[in-house]
Amino acid sequence: MRKHIFNAGPCILADVVRENTAKAVIELGNSGQSILEVSHRGKDFEAILKETKELLTEIMEIPEGYSVLFLGGGASLQFAMVPFNFLNTKAAYLNTGTWASGAIKEARLFGEVNVLASSEDKNFGYYPKNFTIPTDVDYFHITTNNTIFGTEILKDLDSPVPLIADMSSDILSRPVDVSKYALIYGGAQKNMGPAGVTVVIIKNEMLERVTRTNIPTMLKYRVQVENDSMKNTPPCSAIFTVREVLRWVKSLGGLKVMDSRAQEKADLLYNAIDSSKVFVGTAAKEDRSRMNICFVMKEGYQDKEADFLALTSSKGIVGIKGHRSVGGFRASCYNALEIASVQVLVDAMKEFENAIL
Ligand SMILES: *Cc1c(COP(=O)(O)O)cnc(C)c1O
Repeated sequence: MRKHIFNAGPCILADVVRENTAKAVIELGNSGQSILEVSHRGKDFEAILKETKELLTEIMEIPEGYSVLFLGGGASLQFAMVPFNFLNTKAAYLNTGTWASGAIKEARLFGEVNVLASSEDKNFGYYPKNFTIPTDVDYFHITTNNTIFGTEILKDLDSPVPLIADMSSDILSRPVDVSKYALIYGGAQKNMGPAGVTVVIIKNEMLERVTRTNIPTMLKYRVQVENDSMKNTPPCSAIFTVREVLRWVKSLGGLKVMDSRAQEKADLLYNAIDSSKVFVGTAAKEDRSRMNICFVMKEGYQDKEADFLALTSSKGIVGIKGHRSVGGFRASCYNALEIASVQVLVDAMKEFENAIL
């Protein structure tokens, strides 16, 4: 039986995406070769790469003057690549969680980091709002969705300096004004596809700002742009699956539909949490993530966590154990998760509550 997959990443994928990937692993069209075997320089893969780029450009409405890259190394490598290329003297960061802290740590290897605001004082349970972006920094880096702590910023900030965003865990969940960003990156495995490929959307003008001369070849955005992500062998099969995800997103109606699906699922689960006598949410209401919904047992019930996990497991629910930094539970409701699965979780919460109250 197919499980209700609430994993934080790698994420759930739509049936049609898995089916088409499975077919391609056996044979790509009528090519007599599989996606695992074709040359990355051959016409079959060339067409896949081109379509994937075009679909992402269409779905996210990426304006002229940007390039789309499919790289290796995960979002974590972008933590280093961004400052390696763009941090000449000083950069500004928001510290909104574990991943943001990771990005800050890497940036400090390359120059001065100005942490404009941090929500660490409340275990990253809110998204900082009172900060001013300085004009004397090379760029401003944010993490739009904090996967571990369940906070999210749902608007596109205005920034006087190039705005760089780690969108690993909420990309494709709402329409985004790409023109406000100089660079957007994300590991595909949270909402865009399987692990193994990282998507980068970069404003070409940014390439002119690179002054450092000792950047290793593979870590230079310019090299990646000029070689269309093909300086070395790209993660071909992961890119294929991203294409399938994008085709699926488009077939459902694009990001407006993903946006309303996300809202519907989040409303259903947060309403259940807010009306519960046993469960309580951990993130500030106005900053709650629609992608990663974190909640814990209220005082007095904390010894019952394992019982609840056992009940959810018996319903076919997987992946809701909270990250150790928050504890409790985290239900990741990425694009491909159907609302019916959220309903199963909500029903399990009610059943559990009735049983122990
Ligand atoms: C998972 C995650 C990362 C790390 O991604 P990798 O691809 O595993 O390196 C970075 N940022 C955010 C917001 C994430 O959710």
